[in-house]
Amino acid sequence: MYNVKSLKAEEFISHDEILETLAYAEKNKNNKELIESILKKAEERKGLSHREASVLLECDDEEITNRIYSLAKQIKKDFYGNRIVMFAPLYLSNYCVNGCLYCPYHFKNKNIARKKLTQEEVKKEVIALQDMGHKRLALEAGEDPVNNPIEYILECINTIYSIKHKNGAIRRVNVNIAATTVENYRKLKDAGIGTYILFQETYNKESYEYLHPTGPKHNYAYHTEAMDRAMEGGIDDVGLGVLFGLEMYKYEFAGLLMHAEHLEAVHGVGPHTISVPRIKPADGINPDDFDNGISNEIFAKLCALIRISVPYTGMIISTRESKEVREKVLSLGVSQISGASRTSVGGYCEEEDEDDNSAQFDVSDKRTLDEVVKWLMELGYIPSFCTACYREGRTGDRFMSLCKTGQIQNCCHPNALMTLKNI
Ligand code: SAM
Repeated sequence: MYNVKSLKAEEFISHDEILETLAYAEKNKNNKELIESILKKAEERKGLSHREASVLLECDDEEITNRIYSLAKQIKKDFYGNRIVMFAPLYLSNYCVNGCLYCPYHFKNKNIARKKLTQEEVKKEVIALQDMGHKRLALEAGEDPVNNPIEYILECINTIYSIKHKNGAIRRVNVNIAATTVENYRKLKDAGIGTYILFQETYNKESYEYLHPTGPKHNYAYHTEAMDRAMEGGIDDVGLGVLFGLEMYKYEFAGLLMHAEHLEAVHGVGPHTISVPRIKPADGINPDDFDNGISNEIFAKLCALIRISVPYTGMIISTRESKEVREKVLSLGVSQISGASRTSVGGYCEEEDEDDNSAQFDVSDKRTLDEVVKWLMELGYIPSFCTACYREGRTGDRFMSLCKTGQIQNCCHPNALMTLKNI
């Protein structure tokens, strides 16, 4: 039975509730009066429930879609200004004991080189990232209690924060590692992490179990309840996401919003971020083998609907997506992007040979960070690398005036600063 406040995965992500939501959306997709009232609620910046948002997703009236886009653009502007938060993923280790069907890290894959960074290598990677201008990282690792235990992750975080290089240090370390215990979340909190990110992959339990046939990740409830344990362990900022392409997007969309509603209802605070990854080609992985790929149009609509449904939640897009797709969804609500990412272990210091490839997936946006910064500035955005600008205020104008007066000079990307000085 559906219960938003339950701590049991199958109750707060109730399969029956999702099916009923999809049926409700189908039944009401042409219900003009209802759709108007939902749009009115969204215009008041009150967010939308999973049922309301699902009706808008199901409605394929072009005029309504255009209104959703305009509203998403306006909410994005009002809440986030022109500021775009920049970050880079840092792959620590690709050792993994799980058997995920969509991920090349799965333990049966003997084709990819297995690598784990030493602390010396972590330092080199971080210095290379800092030299590009990065200040925020998202740590990535496979799940392997022997090769990548929590102690290893904590040691890496400690190493990263201790590096002082040129114009400062890494300001925020977000962590994307497998679901773990309350005790381990507390350790991550004590190590000073920013956001704990964990993608649900799919909210459909049956598909989830099929896609994760072996390993600790097979346990749907343990994975789905991870954010509650993270919050119990003191982590305030958690990041949700599904891997679009694995299951029916309408199902995932309802599940994602139900998860956000659950966190809000139980902990008084919704997710800090929502990521919108789509499955990409990787070693031995062909996205076409999965039946639920979504077009760029549907993807854009999903981003716009997330923006109006959870206005306060940051939205993240990675270099899995092309420049063109990123440009489109930036205007519709995305507030954080990665730039110049390498998805291989040690990839920032060394390009890998074809036959020594440790990468997780192919990136689409292969531009350098300078190119990404220039592009953002040309589009009228302010790329933000530091957390100082965040603390000083959310709006782009405030950020820009601080940049101009040089108050946050030390933590901004040199190109962004140079362009701002000329404004
Ligand atoms: N081991 C952690 C876990 O189990 O959640 C971290 C996962 S991994 C380093 C980060 C994310 O990459 C996964 O959660 C998954 O959604 C995504 N991923 C895996 N294979 C992918 C692929 N072929 N294309 C795009 N994203 C992929």
